[in-house]
Amino acid sequence: MNQSIISRKKALKFLTFGSASALFAPALVTTACAANERRQAGSFLSFDDIFNTVYPFSLQSLPYADDALEPYIDEKTMNIHHGRHHNGYINNLNNALEGYTELQSMTLSELVAGLRDLPEDVRTAVRNHGGGHLNHVVFWNTMIPGGSDPTDSLKEAVDRDFGSMDNLKEELLSEAGRVFGSGWSWLAADESGRLQVVRTPNQDSPLTDGLTPLTGVDVWEHAYYLKYQNLRGEYVENWWNLIHWEKVSEIYEQSA
Ligand code: MN
Repeated sequence: MNQSIISRKKALKFLTFGSASALFAPALVTTACAANERRQAGSFLSFDDIFNTVYPFSLQSLPYADDALEPYIDEKTMNIHHGRHHNGYINNLNNALEGYTELQSMTLSELVAGLRDLPEDVRTAVRNHGGGHLNHVVFWNTMIPGGSDPTDSLKEAVDRDFGSMDNLKEELLSEAGRVFGSGWSWLAADESGRLQVVRTPNQDSPLTDGLTPLTGVDVWEHAYYLKYQNLRGEYVENWWNLIHWEKVSEIYEQSA
């Protein structure tokens, strides 16, 4: 059993070096060790650091107060969504990896990017809960009260690949509307820097398909139901006003 996990891990390391690590290298790759040391010291972890943390994973504070995104996202929803749902993914991920010492040294992004090479008996748990952890890190960190502006280079890429910001908005929001049940609508970049809108079910991440998630909207009912009930379209439309385009631009520029 150990043998097979080790060989899979070696294969995965090779794979992530060629694909996932390339997406996050060099700027987004810090050592897992350094990220964990900062976490233990209780200091603020950046988005990039969280991607590079290893088991045991822990919930980071939001980059703003629970009520900071009012009126678009209400305080109670934020509190439950972050404190209970996101925290639940983290606890379940830790439980799933408990017996897998070989996987405990892998970073969050390596686990999610290399999902298909993980041992079969842990793969579904990492898919759901590792994906859940990573997706929510992207979600929280690419929103900001009042929104922010994209850099010129991201704007140029949006114009090139969608025609305009308005077209991107239309595509991102309409994909969100097409999610049946629970899932996400993402703006993602491929290895050549081309932008695309992708929809994923449940907690699947674009990262597993070799795409860097730049921002995305959570359309699980837990993300909006308290305030919006069945009005998912209104919630998604309001989410657009909160996008931290400056942060999205930063992720894009580092992924290219
Ligand atoms: Mn969620």
